[in-house]
Amino acid sequence: MTEPFSKWNYPTTVLFGAGRIKELPDILASAGIANPLFVTDPGLAQLPVVAKTLKLLDDAGVSYGVFSDVKPNPVESNLNAGVKIFRDGGHDGVIAFGGGSALDLGKLVAFMAGQNRPVWDFEDIDDWWTRADASAIAPIIAVPTTAGTGSEVGRAGVITNEATHTKKVIFHPRMLPVTVIADPELSVGMPPFITAGTGMDAFAHCLEAYCAPGYHPMADGIAVEGMRLVFENLPKAYENGKDLTARANMMSAAAMGATAFQKGLGAIHSLSHPIGALYDTHHGMTNAVFMPYVLAFNRDAVEERIVRLSRYLGIKGGFNGFAKAVLKLRKQLKVPHKLPGLIKGLEMDDKRKALIADMAVVDPTAGGNPVKLTKKNVLELLDASIEGK
Ligand code: NAD
Repeated sequence: MTEPFSKWNYPTTVLFGAGRIKELPDILASAGIANPLFVTDPGLAQLPVVAKTLKLLDDAGVSYGVFSDVKPNPVESNLNAGVKIFRDGGHDGVIAFGGGSALDLGKLVAFMAGQNRPVWDFEDIDDWWTRADASAIAPIIAVPTTAGTGSEVGRAGVITNEATHTKKVIFHPRMLPVTVIADPELSVGMPPFITAGTGMDAFAHCLEAYCAPGYHPMADGIAVEGMRLVFENLPKAYENGKDLTARANMMSAAAMGATAFQKGLGAIHSLSHPIGALYDTHHGMTNAVFMPYVLAFNRDAVEERIVRLSRYLGIKGGFNGFAKAVLKLRKQLKVPHKLPGLIKGLEMDDKRKALIADMAVVDPTAGGNPVKLTKKNVLELLDASIEGK
């Protein structure tokens, strides 16, 4: 087949803007959901943002259940517990409310509640998703409260397999939420560390999608504008969490990153996934740590693209200028420069490094990296990020 030749998928209805959470009862009615399961995480469940949202449901006379046993980097036992509550409560849809962890887990509960095979049978490999009974997947309303993963506009859920300590991506087209309420007011309470980490996750999605090989000019365009929004708004949201315009622009950038990364991701994620699974680090912050090392590693393959990107962003100095801008952004957000800054007391022997490299080269994102990942070059990359070279 001659180029251009590609496949493009576009996401779902997004109701965007401050205060739009008030529309939740109407959205449930129009989606035909009478008894939703509200899935969130235990930290959020304690915050007024959840109490206020549940009051909207109470006031509208909606009957619902709540499930909040969701770890950051959720695991299979969280999923099994959520599926049991969904089935026992006779629920007919899910409100996935939170950051990527609660959104993914909520989406996976809606997906798995109607299946009778293990979740690992639906990994994002070839056409494994066709094994699922699509008619049994419950509708999902997604409400992000962080601005990073973009899971609200995605068709996948990430879950850690505790037996193998690996993060797995579970995919089905019907895991795409039917409606998203992207209300930046819900993200105002995010503490600076989470604001920084999630924002850098959105940036990593845009950067890796833009650098991934393949023909997808729409994803490229979305990624480039997503990066502009991050450069201009993430430091503002970090400095002043109540800056609603900055919060709104970051919520857009997050959805844009996840729209763009259907083109592919790369080595930032291939390394971040094993580190997250083995050390339970924050996903976006881990991406942020690896970013400059992967950028330097990919330089020869991406320099021309990065120069074009820099021109759009108004960054002078070509590739070096862009690399400096990334370092400056990380510094403003207090991202640790080296991996031991992220994982306190980190001691990695050769066996552990080899395990991480083995996991990285088979990670589903590895194929999107513009330079082929091998065990040898991943080990070098890992050493660079440990030593800060
Ligand atoms: P998270 O969902 O793990 O949340 C991190 C912390 O922030 C939690 O303690 C949570 O309670 C808190 N929090 C969330 N919203 C808040 C708010 N408004 N105010 C105060 N505290 C708030 O973090 P995340 O970065 O959004 O998600 C990470 C997860 O998403 C990882 O498991 C990662 O693998 C996954 N992920 C999924 C996709 C996808 O496409 N599905 C993409 C990237 C990452």
